[in-house]
Amino acid sequence: MRKEIFQLQFENKTNIKNTFEKERIQKLIKIQKWILTNRDRIKTALHNDFKKNFDETDLTEIYPVLSELKHAKRNLKKWMNPKSVRRTLTLLTHKVFIKYEAKGNVLIISPWNYPFLLTIGPLISAIAAGNSVIIKPSEFSENTGKLIEEMISELFPQNEIAVIRGNRNVSSELLELNFDHIFFTGSTEVGKIIAKSAAINLTSITLELGGKSPVIIDETADLKSAAEKIVWGKFLNKGQTCIAPDYVLVDKKIISQFSKLLIESIDKFYKSSGNNIQENGDYARIISEKHHNKLTEMIENALVNGSKIIYGGNHNLENRFIEPTLILTNCKNCKITEEEIFGPILPIIEYEKTDDAIEWINNLCAPLTIYIFSKNKKVIDKITSQTESGGVGINDLVVQFSHYHLPFGGVKNSGMGRSHGFAGFKTFSNERSYIKSGRFNLLKIIYPPYTNFKKKIIDLLVRYF
Ligand code: NAD
Repeated sequence: MRKEIFQLQFENKTNIKNTFEKERIQKLIKIQKWILTNRDRIKTALHNDFKKNFDETDLTEIYPVLSELKHAKRNLKKWMNPKSVRRTLTLLTHKVFIKYEAKGNVLIISPWNYPFLLTIGPLISAIAAGNSVIIKPSEFSENTGKLIEEMISELFPQNEIAVIRGNRNVSSELLELNFDHIFFTGSTEVGKIIAKSAAINLTSITLELGGKSPVIIDETADLKSAAEKIVWGKFLNKGQTCIAPDYVLVDKKIISQFSKLLIESIDKFYKSSGNNIQENGDYARIISEKHHNKLTEMIENALVNGSKIIYGGNHNLENRFIEPTLILTNCKNCKITEEEIFGPILPIIEYEKTDDAIEWINNLCAPLTIYIFSKNKKVIDKITSQTESGGVGINDLVVQFSHYHLPFGGVKNSGMGRSHGFAGFKTFSNERSYIKSGRFNLLKIIYPPYTNFKKKIIDLLVRYF
């Protein structure tokens, strides 16, 4: 069945590749209308998957998809138009331009943590660029996966876009097919498996992976604002966000003041109704028992190694609840400081000098993002120039994802390739370069035989142009 769908799309590839802007926009409009009509069903599916709050789904799944979609609709004509390129002296009479042409048959493999956004977001770019698409959603967010399958089968024929649900075995089977591009969002570990499979056919890949995005807070930072932003960005989706702050490095001089502000912010956001957090409908759950156990083991491991919980720590496997948890630590080889946390646990680590904070970051793999809270430009420049990451957030965090003009992606272990807006369109396109000869061919001058006169011209060319 999988091979048959792939074959259908393969046979239809040239048709879709050659669709006009208007046809592609029609497809985007169909998706837009479906989302607006079925907004409640999307929210219910996510709630059934991990009790994600309805408003949070509106904000972090539906709104960014619609905003990406509208941006693509507005700009598609411009993106599809051939881009002329400046002439060079030697090819002065040639016409040169770039056309973004569809890659062809693409595969999108998505994760469970933002199961709607991270499936439909890349799909919008793939459609805009003129591709046929097979989507493999995560098996962990089953309700959202089923809904996406319904949506796609309602809107598109299988030889254009199809959803194939299933576990890693299904993914592995799909990876055996000769796709023209694979767009994968998920863990670094699985990203390496995808890269190996793609290498067999030299298929191009985009890997949107994970990692440990650090936050540095220096003594000049606006501490109250930083604390609120960190608590919002960390506990949104219960820390199950690829660009969530993974851990915080805090200047020794302000660590106790800052810790208090973090606690105040958690209470303000999640306890102001008077209920305890477990009963607060704004606070989602961990996706599965397996993920829950991994997180609680991380807490245990930190405690055994001398770290101290300063807030939270309670959990309940039955309903996959983990309280927002702040852990003071300086343990370099604990699970919370070595592995991506991907849950509502925030290690707080003190540093004395900026160099120490930089060293801590550089001892780990290059993250998706580095966040810096400071008013000191020298400190900010020092940190950015001595570290590497897919992106940088200065005095803010997480919001960069929603900026469709900003290419989004990681570096090394946190990923390769870029998505969103024009960057996403380019990802799913073959940047094809065209050169067309003009009526006069200046290059004739240097065709053999190499007479003394021609030698002089070549010499001038090499020396001065
Ligand atoms: P995952 O790697 O376990 O799974 C992602 C997808 O890959 C799923 O569809 C799954 O079925 C499939 N898969 C799993 N094992 C496979 C295998 N052996 N072969 C082929 N396919 C396989 O990731 P996850 O747990 O769903 O998502 C969490 C991870 O994703 C975190 O590391 C997070 O940081 C990362 N992430 C990154 C971004 C980003 O934009 N950079 C966004 C969201 C999540």
